[in-house]
Amino acid sequence: MATRTLRIGLIPGDGIGKEVIPAGRKILEALPASLKLKFEFVDLKAGFETFEQTGAALPDKTVEILKNECDGALFGAVSSPSKAVKGYSSPIVALRKRLDLYANVRPVKSVMTAKNPIDMVIVRENTEDLYVKEEKTYDAADGSGKVAEAIKRISQKASFRIATMAGEIALRRQSLRDGGAPSIHKSPLVTITHKSNVLSQTDGLFRATAREALAIAKFSSVGVEEQIVDSMVYKLFRQPETYDVIVAPNLYGDILSDGAAALVGSLGLVPSANVGEGFAIGEPCHGSAPDIMGKNIANPIATLRSVALMLEFLDEEAAAAKIYAAVDGNLEEGKLLSPDLGGAAKTTEVVEDILRRL
Ligand code: ATP
Ligand code: MG
Repeated sequence: MATRTLRIGLIPGDGIGKEVIPAGRKILEALPASLKLKFEFVDLKAGFETFEQTGAALPDKTVEILKNECDGALFGAVSSPSKAVKGYSSPIVALRKRLDLYANVRPVKSVMTAKNPIDMVIVRENTEDLYVKEEKTYDAADGSGKVAEAIKRISQKASFRIATMAGEIALRRQSLRDGGAPSIHKSPLVTITHKSNVLSQTDGLFRATAREALAIAKFSSVGVEEQIVDSMVYKLFRQPETYDVIVAPNLYGDILSDGAAALVGSLGLVPSANVGEGFAIGEPCHGSAPDIMGKNIANPIATLRSVALMLEFLDEEAAAAKIYAAVDGNLEEGKLLSPDLGGAAKTTEVVEDILRRL
């Protein structure tokens, strides 16, 4: 087998992004040679500090290099200024648009030795729904005050591709399990989330299209169920262990994924990936955490898991599995944990422990 070289863009951004992204680079460099993988890294700029230095939160050069030279990327975090700053808007939102990263994928997983283990992944559509941001405000015809409206747009195209991705993720999770990855699930299951009892056209289209996408032969081993979003939230908190892969339109996905993250205790544990055709950006779910920056106490695990998730989408499942297992080893032993998990270990000590386990 020939060695594959992957070129990875590194965008630390602001705050603890600068502490956790170097950890992501380290774990890629420490992967065993038997995997036949080599990495090249490109340091790229984006974020609030970049905005203050250059006037652009997302320099064109960063986008061009990602597009033309990179196979994937790691994104740390960006500070959101407390007041609106003229000309500044979130670079990660812009990046998702410019690279057409149409899916936001968020695995929420506890260690399997937990009292009530959970292992789910939320696949959120990332380009439409209420996030098309077409809003308007006008005066009510009866003079009773103002009225505001927002467009909720759902397309067959976007619904089809997100459901297809959910099906593929379900199959891949099964293949990781078949390869020995510990899990509470025995067979793949996709849960389609919607509110089509009320929104029969928009959510109705999402539901019907997702069903259609998952009905093809390739997904015949994948169980498909659907659930109304409100009862889903209830069940997510009462019986989170029942979920394997959840697919949802943008807004429900946003809410479900933050809610689900609360189930595993710390923001410092939860990874995500922004995924498009042939490209993935790994991104920890937490923000720039200015309250703990520069202290070497940020939990690096969300980032290390984001590295693994990025590798999954670059078809490097074996490498991803090694990282997941090393992280789980650290958590299960519980000796070198960062302060957000009740431990006293420094960021760098947690990273070293996980590297040893690779
Ligand atoms: P931002 O505006 O960049 O989102 P924030 O102030 O909202 O910043 P978050 O990063 O979203 O901060 O974090 C919320 C809380 O969780 C903070 O108290 C932060 O210290 C904590 N936290 C976030 N990430 C981590 C991490 N990796 N390790 C430990 N604690 C974290
Ligand atoms: Mg935040």
